[in-house]
Amino acid sequence: MKILLVGEYRDGRLLNSTYELVGFAEQVGGDTVMLLVGSETQLPLYSGTLYLADATVCGEYNPDMHKRLILEVVQKENPDYIVFLHSSYGWDLAPRVAAALGAAQLSEVIALADGGFEVGCCSAKMRRTIKPLTNRAVITIQAGAFAAVQSEGGFDLHKVSAEGAGRVSFLAYEPAEERAVDLAKAEVIIAVGRGVGKKENMPVISALAKAMGGELGASRPVVDAEWVAHSQQIGTTGQTVSPKLYVACGISGAIQHLAGMKKSEFVVAINRDKDAPIGEVADVLVVADVMQFVPALTARLSN
Ligand SMILES: Cc1cc2nc3c(=O)[nH]c(=O)nc-3n(C[C@H](O)[C@H](O)[C@H](O)COP(=O)(O)OP(=O)(O)OC[C@H]3O[C@@H](n4cnc5c(N)ncnc54)[C@H](O)[C@@H]3O)c2cc1C
Repeated sequence: MKILLVGEYRDGRLLNSTYELVGFAEQVGGDTVMLLVGSETQLPLYSGTLYLADATVCGEYNPDMHKRLILEVVQKENPDYIVFLHSSYGWDLAPRVAAALGAAQLSEVIALADGGFEVGCCSAKMRRTIKPLTNRAVITIQAGAFAAVQSEGGFDLHKVSAEGAGRVSFLAYEPAEERAVDLAKAEVIIAVGRGVGKKENMPVISALAKAMGGELGASRPVVDAEWVAHSQQIGTTGQTVSPKLYVACGISGAIQHLAGMKKSEFVVAINRDKDAPIGEVADVLVVADVMQFVPALTARLSN
């Protein structure tokens, strides 16, 4: 088994999530090679064969050219799997590579399954188990689903480049809107989930945040329902946080949410379902109705 890992740079910096590709490959087992379109000044902690293309020549975002680079490495290395992060880079590039190779594509893999791979479906309420029927497969992995693995062993560096132009021209990165609250720096976060029920219940959670001196965060459905601003969303498509205390109120613990908060030092989850997946990362799981428990807790803290 040979696995080609396609790492990622953004704005000149190697993304740490590149190491999650190595974690995935370790779970699958087999030899790895890595391809990066980046810079010699930002090389990964990786041992194995490393193909490096210069981003100042090939462009950080140039799917046509990057596809050509990947196909060149595929020809040299003959990998069984070609693996990307399920990022805006990976989900754009992977299907182009799969189509060019006539290979199966498995998108947003979150775990290995017996003889196959698990991907989330139905907004992560279910998992679908699938396996490729082609000898070679292109895979994207969900952020946070696999441990990041670094190694100091050193690599065997090969420089590669691609000819020709692309059909898309990269202009610039735009910084995101200024965040009203920088949750990344908050020490205490009280996070609101769909279990809070309705927007009118929000003052109950805000009162707890005030009593604990914390900031309000939220799961994606709460943001989609416009109970709070998008800047307060935590998870793969929101902020990544690592507070000392994270209080999850009525949050199920979908993998996309956990990816944004699992580095919290201490997690308290309030959920009426004792089997909710958030229990797997919670230090304390309070099995209760959030609208009964939170006011009682706030009252106790305020006395
Ligand atoms: C590509 C993609 C990206 C995504 N990105 C994100 C992301 O960045 N962040 C994110 O959060 N999600 C994200 N999601 C959505 C994610 O899959 C889940 O759907 C979402 O996290 C669920 O939010 P929730 O836990 O608030 O709601 P639910 O899953 O509906 O869970 C509600 C929980 O509340 C509990 N509950 C209900 N009533 C009560 C009560 N009265 N008292 C106590 N507990 C109660 C229930 O038992 C349940 O566990 C993404 C999904 C996709 C497909």
